[in-house]
This record gives sequence, C-alpha cells and structure tokens, in this order.
Amino acid sequence: MAISLPLVFDAPRRAMPPRHLADLDDDARTAAVAELGLPAFRGKQLANQYYARLIADPHEMTDLPANLRDQIGEALFPKLLDAVREIECDAGETRKMLWRAVDGSTFESVLMRYPQRNTVCISSQAGCGMACPFCATGQGGLQRNLSTAEILEQVRAAAVELRDRDGDGIAEPARGGRLSNIVFMGMGEPLANYNRVLAAVRRITAPPPNGFGISARAVTVSTVGLAPAIRKLADERLGVTLAVSLHAPDDALRDQLVPLNRKYPLAELLAACRRYLEAAPRDFITFEYCMLDGVNDDEAQARALLRLVGEHGPAGRVPCKFNLIPFNPFPASGLKRSGAARVQAFARALIDGDGAGGVVTTVRKTRGDDIDAACGQLAGEVQDRTQAARRMTRAPIAIRPAAPAENRR
Ligand code: SF4
Repeated sequence: MAISLPLVFDAPRRAMPPRHLADLDDDARTAAVAELGLPAFRGKQLANQYYARLIADPHEMTDLPANLRDQIGEALFPKLLDAVREIECDAGETRKMLWRAVDGSTFESVLMRYPQRNTVCISSQAGCGMACPFCATGQGGLQRNLSTAEILEQVRAAAVELRDRDGDGIAEPARGGRLSNIVFMGMGEPLANYNRVLAAVRRITAPPPNGFGISARAVTVSTVGLAPAIRKLADERLGVTLAVSLHAPDDALRDQLVPLNRKYPLAELLAACRRYLEAAPRDFITFEYCMLDGVNDDEAQARALLRLVGEHGPAGRVPCKFNLIPFNPFPASGLKRSGAARVQAFARALIDGDGAGGVVTTVRKTRGDDIDAACGQLAGEVQDRTQAARRMTRAPIAIRPAAPAENRR
C-alpha cells in the first residue's frame, strides 16, 4: 500500500488576503463604512453595486461621489484575484479560469453552460489536505484556505462572464446570461474551510443587496465526508444540496480511496447524512462515486452500495441519488477510468436495485477533460512546479483490485 500523504485539517498559517466588502456581513459592512466616516446608507449602496450589479471597482459605481471612490476602493475593494489563464473547450460551453491570489496561491473555477442552466464550479481552498489518491489536487497538499471574498469573486466573475457574453448576469430568469447553479466541487474540501464557506453560501443565497440571490436548492456543497461538519451544517438549515463523495461500498476499500474514512468511517458518515436530511431539510443526498477500473466498478460492488445505504439506521434507506463520475486519469495515480460498458452495467445494477428497489443514478457527462478542468484535475499549473515534478516521479498508488467479478466484461 503506497498511500503516504498525511491528512491535513488545519491550513498552514499563511497571511490571508486583505479585507474586502464581500468578507463582511450586513453589520460588519455598516461598521466598515462608519470607520471611513461615511453614513450607513453607503454600505447598502456598495453591496447593491457588488451583488446586484456585479461591480467591484468603485470607479465604475456611478452613484458614488467621485471624491470617495479612491478611499472606498482602497479600504473595501482590493483586487483579490488575477486571471492567469483562461481556457475554453466544448465549443465554448466550458471555460476554466486559473486564478492567482495576492500571495501567489493559485486555484481554479470552471464555468459550464448547459441547455437549461449555467453552473460554476468553485474552489474553497488552494490545494487540498484530504490526500485522496485518485485526485490530482489532493496530491499537491493544502496551501491555504480561501477567504469568503475570494470564493465570492469566483462567483461574481462567472456571472459577469455570462452577462457580458449573452445576457443579464444573475437577474434575468432565462438561461441565456444567467448564473443559475453553484457547486463547491473545485479545489479543496469545503467543509474543512467551514466558516468562510458558510459565509459565502449565505451571501450567494441572500437576496440583493446582501447577496447574489441564487436559490439555496441550486447550491451544492460537496464533501468527502467530514461527519462532524455535516452535522454542524445540518443545524444551519440552509437547504443547500449536499453531495457526499462515497467512492466505495465498504470501509476496507474506502480507507484506501478516501483516507478521511479512517477517521470518520461509513457508519458515522451515513448517520450524519441522515441527520442532514432531517434538519436541512432536503429530499435526498447525492452520493458521488468516481468509477475506477477494476477497483470499485464491479456490479457486486453496486449491490453492496445499495445494501450500505439501506442498512444504516432504523428508518430504511438513506434517501439518495447516485452520480457516477468517470475518473480523469493523471499520470501519478496509476489508476484507470472504467470503460463505458462497466459504468453502464454498474448504473443499471443501482437502478434495478435489490429487493428494496433501485436508486436514481446518473452518469456525469465529463466537461473539460481536454483542458484538465474536470473534477479531480484542478491542480495548479503555474504554482508549485517543483512540487508537481516531485508528484510525477512518485510511485503509482497501489489499490486493492475489485473482488472477482460475477459479470466482468
Ligand atoms: S477528491 Fe476532493 S477532498 Fe479528495 S483530495 Fe481531491 S479535492 Fe480534496
């Protein structure tokens, strides 16, 4: 077993970026404008410009007196992110942004346009400390947590992009031009940066002028299974969708694929999921399952998954959907993507189900494979070139193969 990366829960102590308006809640915003000697209504005015009009440069805020713009810009709108690279694929329907923060940290967001919705996948940390061996990001370790404003700037940039390309940003209901969905599935484990992610979710879902006004149901927070944080999030009753990366039907395999499982095993994780559904409230959890050839993609394992979600707790099966994710191979992993026939057979086994019926199952359409934009490939390209070189020379990760297949193709 060659997994040697440690789990890192606490981000290394690095200076956080300067304060930005998007870091502040209503009260803190009022206090901040008071510090500048300005009346309270200016706070609301600035928030309206930022969240409703998507403007982050006071010099473009036409309702602001010209003599205040420099002062306000310096105090509340420092430039946090520089777009280092921008790559498109899928005929322009997928666009990856590589951002550089003021301290040089790099992270990424991906904007994906679909017929009925526009989704941005955002990062919550620069790097990740969860060390999942099938994930390129996890191999680079955790650089630092992102601030709330750095998270929200990814959202605002996506909304601006959509508005400028074909519509009216967040305000218009039609698909064209409107940012409709946010998924926290970029770099990082969102629940390991709990307070800042929570503040970002509150501002994403709050109506203008206090937030972007996106429906909580259209926001997905993804986690690899930080059970205590799931329980805490349940108590917030935000109503956001929770996506849990499962990837294995039993603890023995999940201990290898998701090192965090050794701390919070499946029984505790599923109990936390139940609690989330009861409190949140939401109708179901989405279980993400990365399909790894010969590792976790056997039909017998699909049936074991059904037993798993059926056996934890007295209330019957955990209400859930499965989302099967084609693995995006990267050289150091030594792992391969499951073939389409195996993915289909696995999905069919989940859908057809056992004696207790099946579970709704989808297969994620990969977006951005050719630009390393798909989930698990958001490793920085600009920063840490040395670290990347070291990663690529590490021995491939050895993972126990799947049990002998009953219906192996
Ligand atoms: S899969 Fe998610 S939690 Fe695991 S290392 Fe990658 S980014 Fe982190």
